[in-house]
Amino acid sequence: MAKQEDVFKKVISHAKEYGFIFPSSEIYDGLSAVYDYGQNGAELKNNIKQYWWKAMVQLNENIVGIDSAILMHPTTWKASGHVDAFNDPLIDNKDSKKRFRADVLVEDYCLKIEEKEKKEIEKAAKRFGESFDKDQFVATNPKVLEYKTKREAILSRLARSLENEDLADVKALIEELEIADPDTGSKNWTEVRQFNLMFGTKLGASADSAMDLYLRPETAQGIFVNFLNVQKTSRHKLPFGIAQIGKAFRNEIVARQFIFRMREFEQMEMQFFVAPGTELEFYEQWKQKRLNWHLALGLGDDNYRFHDHEKLAHYANAAADIEFNFPFGFKELEGIHSRTDFDLKAHEEFSGRKLQIFDPERNENYVPYVVETSVGLDRLFLALFSHCLRDETLEDGSERTVLSLPPALAPIKAAILPLMKKDGLAEYAEQIFNDLKYDFNLFYEEKDAIGKRYRRQDAIGTPYCITIDHDSLTNHTVTIRDRDTMQQERVPVSELRRIIDEKTSFRNLLAKI
Ligand code: ATP
Repeated sequence: MAKQEDVFKKVISHAKEYGFIFPSSEIYDGLSAVYDYGQNGAELKNNIKQYWWKAMVQLNENIVGIDSAILMHPTTWKASGHVDAFNDPLIDNKDSKKRFRADVLVEDYCLKIEEKEKKEIEKAAKRFGESFDKDQFVATNPKVLEYKTKREAILSRLARSLENEDLADVKALIEELEIADPDTGSKNWTEVRQFNLMFGTKLGASADSAMDLYLRPETAQGIFVNFLNVQKTSRHKLPFGIAQIGKAFRNEIVARQFIFRMREFEQMEMQFFVAPGTELEFYEQWKQKRLNWHLALGLGDDNYRFHDHEKLAHYANAAADIEFNFPFGFKELEGIHSRTDFDLKAHEEFSGRKLQIFDPERNENYVPYVVETSVGLDRLFLALFSHCLRDETLEDGSERTVLSLPPALAPIKAAILPLMKKDGLAEYAEQIFNDLKYDFNLFYEEKDAIGKRYRRQDAIGTPYCITIDHDSLTNHTVTIRDRDTMQQERVPVSELRRIIDEKTSFRNLLAKI
């Protein structure tokens, strides 16, 4: 555990030191759970967006993308159920005065049981060696079964209590399990109460005429209210999808996990509109498609898993998370929800407008059903960043820190490094830079020893370093150094564009989906 915490601390400090992520308004001591992306962070974030946008909009002829406003008519949030039901159960510790999400306290307790299960399995695997049959062990070992049954019973009771809004039972569960404040060990809890996560704001200049608004807590509603506009102007028939990337705001109760849980964050959401009765088939398809999209990033298949929801949101008839193995354990990265016709029907009711489509095959009008895929851009950033950051000891005993990002997502694709400034090397290097800059985001640097410059590029994940030396001036070749293998190769300058493109283009990444 201590090791995982160290990894996470290193991730946070590296992100700051190398211009990826800064605490917001840091000169005023920051703002809790709000972060700014620096020069390298903004590039990485833009590349992640591109990967998603291309996979969704460009590769699917029946998905289009929009960009709706953050501020929406307040009735939107009444219709969507957010005013009444976008709550989290909150509990305070009376001694430490710290605030927690009651459901997360219980879920974390269950994660600890799961860890114990895993330890039993690992121990047995060691004991039995080659002949170990994991499935059989999990199905029959009394200890593992006891842990599993206990965990499942707790989670289903939690789900039931939350569904029935029985907050007293959530408190009772916390007491029965003797859950303590993780930092202080205190079990002196307040009652559990609901807390609405939406940020309120006002539209208009004068106090009396001002209208109460909310900052959107999800981007999805901007898609729903535009559903007919897009359908009519794009002339798509069902099934078709609308994609969007944008900011969302939630006044999260607990926000202590860096960019995993922020108060201002970005979502990449797609609503897929389908004929009623076909939604579960599309739901299964999108679960698999979205998992494949993540797997193509190459962070390791074992680092992803599905978690099917026990407690369904008020709008869903099926829901699952894709969880990623973050430095603090498996947590939600993306949600896939079969949202039924809940949202469009509610908007019909509250707006008095018809949000229906004519289906020529069925010869009837109806409100489409919706399958949603919703991934947090910042969470994906964290997954990539924390997984790809590692320290390596090299053959000569020296150390390097390398950020082995998928090359297509790297903030900088190649660094152009004249060995020295004089003798015309800088001028030649600039010429190469100016030629390649239209195709790739490059970095130019002539200061410091070349080894130091390589290390700095490794630390921000630059796939290639291109060094211009004296021979370059006469034979028009340069050395190109690969971030991961650290191998250097001498290549003609005329080949650079092809070589960099081959490794860093989105084409390769998208072809793996
Ligand atoms: P959680 O259970 O972790 O609060 P959620 O189930 O409320 O998340 P959704 O409403 O399904 O999340 O939102 C879709 C995606 O948006 C999530 O999978 C996550 O990646 C991202 N997301 C949600 N809340 C935050 C947040 N506060 N900070 C960063 N990303 C978030």
